Formats: sequence, C-alpha cells, structure tokens
Amino acid sequence: MARYKHTEAESGQGMFLTVNLKEQLLPGTFEYMLNELVGTKIDVSIFDENYQNDEKGAGAIPPRVLIKLISYGYLKGVKSSRRLEELCRNNVTAKALAEDMEPHWTTIADFISTGGEKFKGIFAQVLMYCNELELIGGQDYAVDGDRLPSNASLEMTGKRKDLEKRLAIYRRMAEKHIEKHQRRDEAGDNSEASEKRYQERQRKLNKKIEALDNFIKTMKPKKGNGGKEITSNVTDNESAMIHSPKGYIQGYIGMAVADSKKQIIVSAKAVGSANEGAHFPDMLKNALSNVEKAGVKKEPEKKPVIMADSNYFSEENLKAGRELGVETIIADGSYKSRLGKKEGKTYRAEDFTYNEEDDNYECPAGKKLERTKTRKISGRECKLYKADAGDCGVCPLKEKCVKSKKKSRKSGRSLSVTENNSPGGIIHEHLKNLNTVEWQDKYARRMQIIEPVFANISFCKGLNRFSLRGQEKVNGQWLLYCIVHNLGKCLKGYNKGKGYA
Ligand code: SF4
Repeated sequence: MARYKHTEAESGQGMFLTVNLKEQLLPGTFEYMLNELVGTKIDVSIFDENYQNDEKGAGAIPPRVLIKLISYGYLKGVKSSRRLEELCRNNVTAKALAEDMEPHWTTIADFISTGGEKFKGIFAQVLMYCNELELIGGQDYAVDGDRLPSNASLEMTGKRKDLEKRLAIYRRMAEKHIEKHQRRDEAGDNSEASEKRYQERQRKLNKKIEALDNFIKTMKPKKGNGGKEITSNVTDNESAMIHSPKGYIQGYIGMAVADSKKQIIVSAKAVGSANEGAHFPDMLKNALSNVEKAGVKKEPEKKPVIMADSNYFSEENLKAGRELGVETIIADGSYKSRLGKKEGKTYRAEDFTYNEEDDNYECPAGKKLERTKTRKISGRECKLYKADAGDCGVCPLKEKCVKSKKKSRKSGRSLSVTENNSPGGIIHEHLKNLNTVEWQDKYARRMQIIEPVFANISFCKGLNRFSLRGQEKVNGQWLLYCIVHNLGKCLKGYNKGKGYA
C-alpha cells in the first residue's frame, strides 16, 4: 500500500512564517512595476494638499499606498472599498503594495471619490511614461464610449410629471400598506415577524416618498439640446438615462480616445449624458493636448486621423475636427447599410453633380433633376430637386436610386439638399470621402483600436457599473480604470527595459 508524507494543513494548526514583503513582489509582474513606478515615474505629491496634519492630528495613510492598492485591486477586478480593505489583510501581494498598512475602507472610498481632478495629473504622468516606452503613435485615434450604470436608481427617473405620478403611487402604496396591516391586526395576526416586515416595508416606502417629495419641491427640470425637458434622477441627478445594448440604464458613458499603436488611452472622461456625440470636440481637443504634453513626436507631413461611429456624426463634430487640423472620419447613420448592400450603395446626394448655372443636378444616368420648392426639415431649410418620372420609370439604374418602384412611376427621384449636404458643404464633402475605398479602409480600423480598450476595462477588469454617484466622482473612478489600463500596456516595455523579459 502506498505511503505518503503527512501534512499538518488539515489539522488547522497555526504556524509562524517569516515574510519579507518586498520579496512578495516578483520581478516581471504588474505589481512589481507598479511598486517601482509610484514614487519614481509617478509623482503623487499632488495629493499632499489634502492633508493638514503637519502640526496636529494622526499621520495619514500615504497616497502612494492608496494609489498602489486601488490600482492593484482594479487590475484584479476588485472595485469595492470594503474588499480592497480586506485584500490588505488577506492577500500578501496587496499587503506588500500597501506597505503593511491596512487603510480603512472609508479612507479608500474617500480617496477615490475626492481625487477626480488630481487623477488627471496621474493620468498625464502615466501617458508620459507610455511615451517614454514608445507606446503612443500620435497619428491615428478612435473615440467611443462605454455605457455603464452607476449607483443611481432607474426607478427614480423621469420628467417632473412622471415623478409627480410616481410620488402619488408611492403614497397610495403606503396607505394601502397601513390598511393591510390594520386588517391583519383585526384578524389577530400580530406576530413579531409580521410586525417587523410591516415596519421595514413602511420605512422603505416613507424614505422613497420623502426623497421624491424633497426632490420635486427643489428640482429645476433638466433641459436637452432642443430646450425640451429631459429626464431627471432623484438619486443622482448628474447621471442620465441611457440606451445601452442591455436596454435602458441610469448611469454614465465612460468615454475614451485611444491611440492606434498600442491602444493607449490618451483622453478619458465619464459623461452623465445620453448624447456622447456632443462631447466629441472636448475629447478630441483634450487628446491632442495630452499627446503634446506627453512629448509624442508628430509627423509634420501627416494630419492626425480620428475615427468615430455614427453616434458622433454631426456637422459640429466635423467642423471641430477640421478646426483642430484632424482628418475626421465619422460614419453616418446609413454607412453600414450602404456597405452591406449586395449590389453596392444606393445613390445619395453626393452621387449627383450640381450644375450651378442652371441650379439643377445631373443624376448618375445623366438625367436632370430640376429645382422644385424649398421646405423646412428638422428646422433646416431644404431645397428640393426632382427627376422626371418618365426618366426614372425606364431607368436601368432605378434599383440603386429610387427606394420604391411604385413611387418612381408617379414622381421620380427627388433630392433634398440642405446647406450642409449641398456641394461644397462639410457634410457633402464628408459623405463623398466616406464612399471612397481609402476612407472605408481607414474606418475599418476603428473597432480594432477602441473596442479592445473597453473589453479590457469591462470584461478583464470587471467594471460593469460605476459604484459612485455624481459626475466628478464617477469621472475619477473612470480615470483610475483608464490609468490601470495604460499601466498594463507599459508592463512589456518596462520588463524589457529592466531585462525581466
Ligand atoms: S432613377 Fe431617375 S434619378 Fe435615378 S439614375 Fe435613373 S433617371 Fe437618374
């Protein structure tokens, strides 16, 4: 019969171990690099002004410890402050990074929620280090956003009228709850458990009623772009109701601009808005300034390129790109369907040639579209041009030109031209370029540049919701995740430099 060595592990007997915390951080690992960079390449003295305890008061947990601990936790998918505190007790690597300190979870939570602006400084320093390792190309960028719920209740969302209705519903529910309890009392069911359940339910309902009532009394209805009222939220009014692939959520969009060379995030911001496209000019400006500050060398001959999906398609964004000297490739709403068509794209305004002298257009079949009238579409003046119904009815190209065959027999192809999509207009030029193979090839890279960034943050690092409330706090948390993403990209270069790889 086989005999094996005896182990004491099952007996539960304790033992003393000599642990050298420094030795727990193994060269070649993320935590080893993190431990060395924070304090050398990453200056955290920016946080010193948070502490006024030089003359009295207890010593504080050093910010370098908190930065290292939070970064390590986020890398491992731990985002709760309570669990980060636990890590310092139970995980020897976290203990080593925290220099054997055990910050209370409130200290960690406070550091994350108040560090918003200062994390921008850390983000900039990490970018400089990325540039030192030559990870930033500074040529092609892609922008997109990750739609994530935050610590805000979707139930407590609505316009003023919706919230008033909800308040009335809660009040009715509270009344019914009391009536039900009275009926039970009369029936003699006044057990301790039932009383406890009643009290708890009533407490929750009263809390909701109080919060809603206070909010409605003091609320200033939020206005959207068109000046119309949009939804407000009782728990976090800076968050927004956002349509995501999983349905409607109440939260923020974590936006990022990534560089094409190694998917380094060069600009990051969380926005409490359902319209991420409106933040494109800011994100682009910020990305260019960050790249410049990080010291990335530009190719003087080449214009930088930024790619974005149809959520960002607007005249304002195209103009912003042009003003900043960037080639802006943004897909329009029907870009995919045009590409997906078996027999090629459908003819659009840019496929017709304008004849300035006669103020008419020539279609791809060489027929004329004459000016008919001017009308307003979505508040914009729109000139209408029409082809002859007879020409379109017998045209061999009508399949690619007129949507409905029936309609073509009656009236022929029409063209609506606004100031933007008229020849020479910014949208007209853009769409024309977008139909070229060169731009389509460039645009095809958008996904490869930006999507791995969100996959890394959401899937690998487990950020499936923001755990904070308020724009500034959520933005701080998003910046921290982006910092960890960029640091992760530095590991290979760091190890190479140190001879660990
Ligand atoms: S369908 Fe009419 S407008 Fe279109 S290409 Fe033919 S003739 Fe021209």
